[in-house]
Amino acid sequence: EMLATLDIGGTKVAAALTQSGRVLERRQLPMVSQREDLQPLLASLLQGWEGIQKIGVATTGYVQQGRVYSVNHDIIGFWNGLPLQDILRSICDVPVVMLNDAQAAAWGEYLARQQDGNGPADLMFITLSTGIGGGLVLNHRLRTGQAGLAGHIGHIPSHIRSMDGQLRCGCGQTGCLELIASGTGLARQASTLMGETCDSRSLFMLAQQHPAAERLIQHAADAVAAMLASQHLALDLQEIVIGGSVGMAPGMLERIQRAFSRIPIPAAPVISAARCGADAGLAGIMHWAGARS
Ligand code: ADP
Ligand code: ZN
Repeated sequence: EMLATLDIGGTKVAAALTQSGRVLERRQLPMVSQREDLQPLLASLLQGWEGIQKIGVATTGYVQQGRVYSVNHDIIGFWNGLPLQDILRSICDVPVVMLNDAQAAAWGEYLARQQDGNGPADLMFITLSTGIGGGLVLNHRLRTGQAGLAGHIGHIPSHIRSMDGQLRCGCGQTGCLELIASGTGLARQASTLMGETCDSRSLFMLAQQHPAAERLIQHAADAVAAMLASQHLALDLQEIVIGGSVGMAPGMLERIQRAFSRIPIPAAPVISAARCGADAGLAGIMHWAGARS
């Protein structure tokens, strides 16, 4: 089967043409900020791929009946019930299967571990990226939830505050984890604290020489670890997988592991890196869509 897969993030859109689980071609373009630019972007990603029989989409936001909605309107302003499925079908008229991106990544990471024979039954994936997303596999099943919302842990308020005092989140709540430990949140705090524009990637480079940069990243890791600990108390997880460009940035996993180990909770899960790396969402949606019509 020829399956085209898309992973739509707040910053980038990745695409892969796959046949029977093998990747034939991979493409990537920056995400657009205007609604009218989305259809042309998706069309150019799928351009020239002959014989597509199905499209699998992993996307930021939550998915309901072919439409996407965002929890945080600051990430993609036009994710307000956008009929993404219809937009794709206007480009390529084949069945479209959609899933939240972090849910897809959770499924991809779960399947990657099942190949070893003794993979976990209960796993959480967290992506630290433009925003913060999460996905849950419980008792070997992906939890999407009735509304498609399951795993949106970036919008659970953290008892740890952001270092720049920002409290208002784009979702309408106060003190969400995403304000502290997402790429957007780190860049905002770094820019405020250091008085000049600084993105998340440069912050990690600065951390090697500048204690203030290191403290900011460590603070984010502490907030992530505290959130994961409370998730573990609710769900009794066997493994927590860290992904996203910020989650995979130098030393971030180790900082989260160290912070987690200082929290006194029983039966601590393994905290590991995404085995599929940046392709976790694509891998997950490939398997998920491949098994569905
Ligand atoms: P998306 O949110 O589109 O899925 P990513 O997982 O790549 O994409 O996350 C994008 C965020 O990660 C941006 O805020 C970006 O600044 C940040 N980022 C990208 N590369 C790095 C890096 N090497 N180190 C730290 N942060 C990074
Ligand atoms: Zn929020």
